[in-house]
Amino acid sequence: MDHFLYRDGVLHAEDVSVPEIASAVGTPFYVYSTATLLRHFRLFDEALAWGPHLVCYAMKAASNQAILRTLAAEGAGMDVVSGGEYARAKAAGVPGDRIVFSGVGKTGAEIRAALEGGIRQFNVESEPEMQAISDIAASMNMTVPITIRVNPDVDAKTHAKIATGKSENKFGIPIARAREVYALAARLPGLRVVGIDVHIGSQLTDLSPFEAAYRKVADLTETLRADGHAIDRLDLGGGLGIPYTRSNEAPPLPSDYGDLIRRTVGHLGCEIEIEPGRLIVGNAGILVSKVIYVKEGEGRDFLILDSAMNDLIRPAMYDAYHDIDPVLEPAPAAETRPFDIVGPVCESGDTFAKARQMPPVGAGDLVAFRSAGAYGAVMASEYNTRPLVPEVLVNGDQFSVIRARPSFDDIIARDTIPEWL
Ligand SMILES: *Cc1c(COP(=O)(O)O)cnc(C)c1O
Repeated sequence: MDHFLYRDGVLHAEDVSVPEIASAVGTPFYVYSTATLLRHFRLFDEALAWGPHLVCYAMKAASNQAILRTLAAEGAGMDVVSGGEYARAKAAGVPGDRIVFSGVGKTGAEIRAALEGGIRQFNVESEPEMQAISDIAASMNMTVPITIRVNPDVDAKTHAKIATGKSENKFGIPIARAREVYALAARLPGLRVVGIDVHIGSQLTDLSPFEAAYRKVADLTETLRADGHAIDRLDLGGGLGIPYTRSNEAPPLPSDYGDLIRRTVGHLGCEIEIEPGRLIVGNAGILVSKVIYVKEGEGRDFLILDSAMNDLIRPAMYDAYHDIDPVLEPAPAAETRPFDIVGPVCESGDTFAKARQMPPVGAGDLVAFRSAGAYGAVMASEYNTRPLVPEVLVNGDQFSVIRARPSFDDIIARDTIPEWL
């Protein structure tokens, strides 16, 4: 459920009409709904209310300061995967003891910054990284809480580029080697083992891979406890999928997911952490764009938009589907015809949809990409020197630009000329 609905024939973000934002900001732009963000965060929080838990928003999905502040004020923790994300979380006022640090390649500088600023735990992904974290922590006279990310070798049944829980993926340590690696961790002076971490992929629309992974984590918890490790925290990752199309079957609800967690690991008495990103922000954001031209081609017609693959790369990168709706509601009986919907970038990959049935739309009309809040703005670039797409946050009847569109001068001024030129 989201808060982007037609009212009197005009698409609204909560109580604000989308054309009103478009006239103030220009197109293209992302717009997020505060009410949807809060609703999704609370669904997860309530799904785990049966025990001690922390919902750590995976901020790589959408990391604008205003979004982080909105969630942090509700009590969200953050899952960060870089020093930059750590700095963003701190800048948004998230206390260090609510930040978990994931990622396969944490650098010395990133580890040091997190130790200085405070960290709830590092999710360790390899033995060399474990050694590095211990060395740095020990040199600062600290012992830092860690979990070790295990790779349970389960098929997440999702797009290959976002599956992370098979043994051929680069993530975590093979679960079969976990005892050995935990034994090593226990001997390292800068570390305090607190739990186990697992994250098997993104956009999972079926709970069975989670179930398989969490059962393995439950068994491992008992094995490691018998080996003398204090396993008090289970970080179960993110990955619950969202509906990208109205016609699809709805994926499982956060409450089903919470029940599954209770059923598989609830008896262990651990504090539960989860790291949802996409489900919190995906359907809390849309990308609004304008039709520049309707081009009649040979055998197919094109809608050429003012947004492109640099603004929303998911279709080009993951073959992702987004519903694309006119901002002015089409008549119920409006006839549709197929268009290839494309951006202006000089690549054939700059195609959002092929042969998409669309109601009548013409040059100058606004369209909205649904479900664009996650992995949208954060993956945007300035390819073709197209200014980074701005972001807007709506709250009830108010809206605010939370990241402005840079001018061409801003973009050019970031380059510097060597003295010999
Ligand atoms: C990407 C990622 C997440 C979030 O995944 P979603 O599918 O957006 O919920 C959580 N944890 C880790 C370690 C990740 O890499």
